[in-house]
Amino acid sequence: MNPFAREMTRPEFADAAWQERCAVTSVDQLRERMEDDPNGNLMRDVELGLARAPMAMRITPYVLSLIDWSNFLQDPIRKQFIPVGSEILPSHPLLRMDSLHEQESSPVDGLVHRYPDKALLLATDRCPAYCRFCTRSYSVGLDTQSVSKKRASPFQARWNAIVAYLRATPVIVDVAVSGGDCFQLNSSQLSAIGRGLLSIPSIRRIRFATKGLAVLPMKVTSDLEWTNALVNISDAGRNQGVDISLHTHFNHPREITHYTAAAAELLFKRGIRMRNQSVLMAGVNDDSEVMKGLVKKLSHLHIQPYYVFACDLVDGLEHMRCSLSLACQIEKAIRGITAGYNTPLFAVDTPGGGGKRDIHSFEYYNRQTGIAVYRAPSVRPDQLFIYPDPLQSLSPDAQTAWLDPQRAKRMLTDAVQAAQAKSATG
Ligand code: SF4
Repeated sequence: MNPFAREMTRPEFADAAWQERCAVTSVDQLRERMEDDPNGNLMRDVELGLARAPMAMRITPYVLSLIDWSNFLQDPIRKQFIPVGSEILPSHPLLRMDSLHEQESSPVDGLVHRYPDKALLLATDRCPAYCRFCTRSYSVGLDTQSVSKKRASPFQARWNAIVAYLRATPVIVDVAVSGGDCFQLNSSQLSAIGRGLLSIPSIRRIRFATKGLAVLPMKVTSDLEWTNALVNISDAGRNQGVDISLHTHFNHPREITHYTAAAAELLFKRGIRMRNQSVLMAGVNDDSEVMKGLVKKLSHLHIQPYYVFACDLVDGLEHMRCSLSLACQIEKAIRGITAGYNTPLFAVDTPGGGGKRDIHSFEYYNRQTGIAVYRAPSVRPDQLFIYPDPLQSLSPDAQTAWLDPQRAKRMLTDAVQAAQAKSATG
């Protein structure tokens, strides 16, 4: 039986503030409710997982109610939010903290400017739930046993410098507001950010990014001040010719419930454009039927399936990464099941700061070594970027080679030379 079944029948379950107050943040809180763990082995496994994880634990009762507790270890929702030590594999040798090099592309605190015409605004370092696969594990959430976070200074203190930079850099026409999660901004912060960005004439598009619709959908239906703030920004944007959208983050069809449907319907009726970005993860959605189900359910709710990203290199997450070859197979199975505009682009956010590339656009990919090499001509034209398949997807010999620094270096050099040779011959 789901140990959170009792909570689900409470009227407060539909209230976002209650969900936030009752979010589970410690193993002891989980242990109190677990009835099917007589020897305590599962919870000990969670403790081991948390000791290795770069993200602290924070899970809403709503998400806990989505987990199939009779299949705890294999459950795709559990895998996204609760680490267990027994499944964690050694990290790939190419893993680096802040693998996307966001901090070095940050001209002012709280703003990442990598692509010529768009910027990422990091409005907060808090989220309603913390995901194991978070790229920004260097700064998002509370400190963990393995990571002391780069704490964001109060947003108000950074805001003037951010606005000044955006005003002085009119080439930026597109701003993604993320963090952290914009569900954690209160309605006045959300309005202030929206108004501030809309006051900059060069900005034509603003996106608010959130996992919130997947982990706390009742925010939209119960915190009407927040929802009205978002709708007002959207209406104001439309009136002055600026496109405002909400970018959601669903990874599995089981994350879509009647709470999600009610929230999405309300937002759709009030004119909010929604798009979804997923992360491809082993044991979660590395299956074409699961991905098809997700695409269909999102499309039904008028949430456009926009991107499926290869999982970034994050400490303690190697077991959840998939090979690019598997990503290509799933993409092939998805294409054609529905309208093209509702078919997600499979992409890799290249380690080292090359930005997002279509997963198929590699210069070179060797399935034996698992090395893919990409170019990013409009971001860093002179550089090559490497995305490695997870070691467990390679042959035993290739795995051994990666663990020998000399052989690993040779494989990387060969891959780069092959990519350069390919570019030279067009
Ligand atoms: S909601 Fe986004 S920013 Fe927050 S932990 Fe999850 S992936 Fe990271």
